[in-house]
Amino acid sequence: MHRIVTRVAPKSRGDFLLKWLMFEVAINLVNVTVERTVRPEAGFDPYSQVLVTVIVSAPFVVFALSVMSHQYQLQRRLADMAATDILTGLSNRGDFLEKASLASVNGQGGALLLVDADHFKRINDTYGHAVGDLCLQAIAERMRKLVRSGDIVGRFGGEEFAVFLPKATPDMARAVGERICEGVRIAVPKEGTEVQITLSVGATPVRAADSIEKMLTLADAALYRAKEMGRARIEFASIEGRAVF
Ligand code: GH3
Ligand code: MG
Ligand code: MG
Repeated sequence: MHRIVTRVAPKSRGDFLLKWLMFEVAINLVNVTVERTVRPEAGFDPYSQVLVTVIVSAPFVVFALSVMSHQYQLQRRLADMAATDILTGLSNRGDFLEKASLASVNGQGGALLLVDADHFKRINDTYGHAVGDLCLQAIAERMRKLVRSGDIVGRFGGEEFAVFLPKATPDMARAVGERICEGVRIAVPKEGTEVQITLSVGATPVRAADSIEKMLTLADAALYRAKEMGRARIEFASIEGRAVF
């Protein structure tokens, strides 16, 4: 049913008109064929036959197409909601993994960055959860601006984000990662003060054959090191003791 709706539902006004005409042609063809088979002796007046058929069938065809169009919009909204993090509008974890895996295979690999806000609990404890939410939105916005179109940014939950840069060279990954680490500065509403949040990043290169989920484990270990080494910095994964960038 899902596939039928996706294929048949009109996607625009022009498409609606085109599909309505196609249905009318099909209905008229069936009607003429049945009429000629069942009552071959009856006189045939194509003009009045088509006119009557269109007048009778149009309300039903228009109704069916409208229902399908509505169903299609609902399907799309549900799919968007299932893939999006509500607070930031970024891809959620599942959507990020799906898109990053696809981009990695298509782009012959790239670089994966796992990003975590530094001392975020303090922000919530000092200014409240609502200000914390504003900060998360500002972080998301900044990351969106820092990447190229085609790069993928997601929120994994809490104050953790991920970025996949298809085809990125190590230098490109480092440059983007370092700018992400600078974090954001936002004005705290009603307080007249500003709060600065830095970010820590764990990065790893990804080859087309690598599973993104497996590479996340490496990025996570690198992120842990970035935290240990003082935060607001980027650390790169090491594979089997060997630095990869
Ligand atoms: P670290 O530098 O080691 O990452 O310290 P941290 O304080 O950022 O890490 P910790 O894991 O101790 O705290 C994460 C905090 O993020 C705790 C939680 O209150 C906050 N948090 C998680 N999700 C949300 C959210 O959706 N909104 C807000 N405002 N805060 C959140
Ligand atoms: Mg944190
Ligand atoms: Mg965290």
